[in-house]
Amino acid sequence: DTLVNQIAAGEVVERPASVVKELVENALDAGATRIDIDLEEGGVRLIRIRDDGSGIAPDELPLAVARHATSKIASLDDLEAVATLGFRGEALPSIASVSRFALTSRRAGEEHGASLPVDGGKLGSVSPKSHPQGTTVEVRDLFYNVPARRKFLRAERTEFSHIEEWLRTLALARPDVELRLSHNGKASRRYRGDGGMATAERIVETLGEEFSKSTLRIDHAAAGLSLHGWIAQPTYSRASADQQYLYVNGRPVRDRSIAHAVKQAYADVLFHGRQPAYVLFLELDPRRVDVNVHPAKHEVRFRDARLIHDFVYRTLHDALAQTRA
Ligand code: ADP
Ligand code: MG
Repeated sequence: DTLVNQIAAGEVVERPASVVKELVENALDAGATRIDIDLEEGGVRLIRIRDDGSGIAPDELPLAVARHATSKIASLDDLEAVATLGFRGEALPSIASVSRFALTSRRAGEEHGASLPVDGGKLGSVSPKSHPQGTTVEVRDLFYNVPARRKFLRAERTEFSHIEEWLRTLALARPDVELRLSHNGKASRRYRGDGGMATAERIVETLGEEFSKSTLRIDHAAAGLSLHGWIAQPTYSRASADQQYLYVNGRPVRDRSIAHAVKQAYADVLFHGRQPAYVLFLELDPRRVDVNVHPAKHEVRFRDARLIHDFVYRTLHDALAQTRA
């Protein structure tokens, strides 16, 4: 079983940033309002994620690290309209099979917390441990038992910047959640989430004042599709290819067709070959999009891709054209 998990880890866990992603998504699924991420050595030595979410009962800790044991969907019908970030039940067993791992938690309303260590996939035993409401996951020495994978890890700084970049992507989508990142004992980033801060403020926090001042606000809905967010005007001075954020139903995704629609609208209206910077949120009925294309869920497949492409193109085209009228 450890071997099966290690093989699955090959798909889910590429590097420290993918571990952080899976663990933070679990925290969000558990309703966390504050998430602390502590790293050592770019996450290779240590990744510790603590949340104030719903927590896990002591007798359910072993289940949480068992393969395909997800608490999030009960049937294939649920998979049609999956609303949580996780649903495959693969992340924890995969991560625990390639690290020195510990899951510690206390459920709301329960007096005692408990902890379960897992060493390279071998389950220890559950023991009582005090913990505030919520969950802490500790991942030490990633790939210590899979030297072939460890070899592919990059310099500490590189791994850290992957994590920072992913966190920025998340921060844009979840202004309601407070996110703190520390590295080698030093506070490195803090996105304040107090009182459901408006997304506009989070945009400034994340991408800076200039981005927020040079962008055009997008907000349009039609035929069950909605697109909102920001797209930079040509006056924006920064190279923008690295500031392209697209979310489908709140999930950060890469999608060539939509990226093309954005670029094309920009080029057609502004006669500008440059890559536009943008933060765009597309919302649609979850049944119109398949998120189960890849284990890491970076990609989605639309039922009616052409229609969505045209909707994005048309929305941005019209909004940009108005600024020139
Ligand atoms: P998935 O997220 O696909 O369900 P995971 O392997 O990521 O699978 O997590 C397994 C299960 O462990 C989840 O379904 C959830 O019940 C529980 N779990 C994991 N992390 C947390 C957390 N931070 N808070 C509460 N429950 C969690
Ligand atoms: Mg998960």
